[in-house]
Amino acid sequence: MSRSSLEDKIKGGIYGVAIGDALGGTTEFMSVREIKARYGYLTEIIGGGAWRLEPGEVTDDTMMTLCVAEGILAKPDDPLNAIGEQFMNWYQTRPKDIGNIIRHTFENVEDSWFEAAYVTHIEMGQSAGNGSLMRCLPVALAYKEWKDIERVSHMQSKMTHYDDRCNEACILYNRIAFRLFQGEELKEVIQQELIGTEYENMLTSEPNCEASGFVVYTLRWVLHILLQASNFSEVVQRAANLGDDSDTIGAIAGGLAGIYYGYEEIPAKYAEAILIRERLDEIAVRLLGVRDGGHKCI
Ligand SMILES: [Mg+2]
Repeated sequence: MSRSSLEDKIKGGIYGVAIGDALGGTTEFMSVREIKARYGYLTEIIGGGAWRLEPGEVTDDTMMTLCVAEGILAKPDDPLNAIGEQFMNWYQTRPKDIGNIIRHTFENVEDSWFEAAYVTHIEMGQSAGNGSLMRCLPVALAYKEWKDIERVSHMQSKMTHYDDRCNEACILYNRIAFRLFQGEELKEVIQQELIGTEYENMLTSEPNCEASGFVVYTLRWVLHILLQASNFSEVVQRAANLGDDSDTIGAIAGGLAGIYYGYEEIPAKYAEAILIRERLDEIAVRLLGVRDGGHKCI
C-alpha cells in the first residue's frame, strides 16, 4: 500500500471515530421515536443533546481514543503505563461524559490496572460495557503486525474492563481494521470474520436488541450498520439515528468506515466541523510515523 493511501486510511479512521461521535452525540440517550419527532433524520453535526455539545464537539469516545493513541505514540514497545497516564490526565480534566465502569476503575487504580478493573467488575457486578471497544482503534492504526495488534487490543481492554466479551470484541474489531489495511473489502472481511463468533447471526438478521452500552449489543449494531451501508455518511447517519448509545456506536462504526473509505471520501462538511481537527491531523501523522518505524511490542 502506498504511503499516501496508508495516511488516508489512518486519518480516515481517526476522523471516522470523531465524526461518528460528534454526530451521534446529539441523539445519545434519545429513542428512535424522539429523534424522528425532533430531527426527522439527523444528518448534520449540530451539537446539543444531553451533553449540550458545541457543534463539532466530541465526547469521551474520541478523547479516550486519543489517550490510547498518545500512549502508544509515547511508548510503542510497551504502551500499558503510557496509556494509563493518558487516561489519568484526561480524567483530571473532569470529563462530563465518562462511563461508569471506567470511572470506577480510575477511582480504584493503584499499582495495577488489571486489578483495578477486576475490583470494578466485582463491585459493580459486571463490566461488559463498550468503553474499551470505543477507544481501541489506534492499536490497529499504529502496528503492522497482527500479533502486536492482538496483544495490545486485549491489554488496553483489560485495563478497565475485566469481562472477556470486551477484549474479544476489541480483537474482532481490530482484526477487521487490520485486514482493511491489507486492502481487503469491508463487507467481505466482516462476513468472514463473523463466522463462528457470537456475532455470526448479524450476517442474516437485524439486531433485535437495544442500541445500548452493553458491548455485545453495541457491536451487533455496529456490524449490522457496516454490512448495510454503502458509504461513509450512511454509516455515521444510521448510527446517529439509532439513539441510545448512538455516539459510541457511531464512533466505533465510523472508525472502520473511515479506514475503508479513506479520509478523501469523508464529506468535507463532516471533517471540517470537528473542533479538534488539528489535533486529529497531528495524531494521524505521528501514527503513520510509528507504523513506518515498524514498532513491535515486547
Ligand atoms: Mg460518548
